[in-house]
Amino acid sequence: MTLNLRKVAKVVPGSETSDGAGVKLKRSLGTPALDYLDPFLLLDEFKSDDGADYIAGFPDHPHRGFETVTYMLAGSMEHKDHKGHRGLLVAGSVQWMTAGRGIVHSEMPKQTDGLMWGFQLWVNLPAKEKMCEPRYQEFPPEQIPIETLEDGTEVRVIAGRAGGVSGPVTGIVTAPLYLDVSVSPGSRFEQPVPLDHNAFVYVFEGEGTVGGEEVVRAGHLAVCQDGDAVRVDAGESGVRFLLIAAEPLIEPVARFGPFVMNTQEELIQAVRDFQGGRF
Ligand code: MN
Repeated sequence: MTLNLRKVAKVVPGSETSDGAGVKLKRSLGTPALDYLDPFLLLDEFKSDDGADYIAGFPDHPHRGFETVTYMLAGSMEHKDHKGHRGLLVAGSVQWMTAGRGIVHSEMPKQTDGLMWGFQLWVNLPAKEKMCEPRYQEFPPEQIPIETLEDGTEVRVIAGRAGGVSGPVTGIVTAPLYLDVSVSPGSRFEQPVPLDHNAFVYVFEGEGTVGGEEVVRAGHLAVCQDGDAVRVDAGESGVRFLLIAAEPLIEPVARFGPFVMNTQEELIQAVRDFQGGRF
């Protein structure tokens, strides 16, 4: 079987920004250059060994109508919500939070210095799931399977399937694939992705050639074209990247900060419900 390789539609450099109470971030999705890649709303990389860049954290703030996915590479972050749910995200752990009808939470670093490194992805929910009960899936690093290939490539499977391995995150309506892939220098990685799913590659170490033609460097996001497989060839220092894909919703998006609904009326209602303490 010959797979139809996905070429690169566009490469977007991450742009420096800040969010929360002043945390420095690199945002590559959810900017004017790439507003939305259905169903993905936002991708941030936070990476700093200077406590001043992250110590203020993300104090209490709401979410409604979508999911937030936090994946930590280094450091630790404590999470607390208005319903008493709390958890500690240590290096290598993942939290997939389906905010649904509403969560008010804080995400605060549990360290004052040292490297803090990770990602937050926002995944939209379809109209019929936007007001669902909030749900958390949290996994420590030992529950995230690592597939090691013959050439030394390592694949951490957070959601979806790679090779014979399934990720621990399950029951997500957009059937996402979320892989952290580290490819040895000069090696090739190929992953089937369903034809009708949107996919992107976010490189965060080294550089690699995506889709057989486009060199993508660290801090850049490559949007994949249609096809049924994503290929990345590592450069001479290797490459490490997130490969993320999911089924698009193909619905209208009405978006205001941490509220993502289908219509303006629903957005106004979300703000009212939050201000009225009805989350
Ligand atoms: Mn949040």
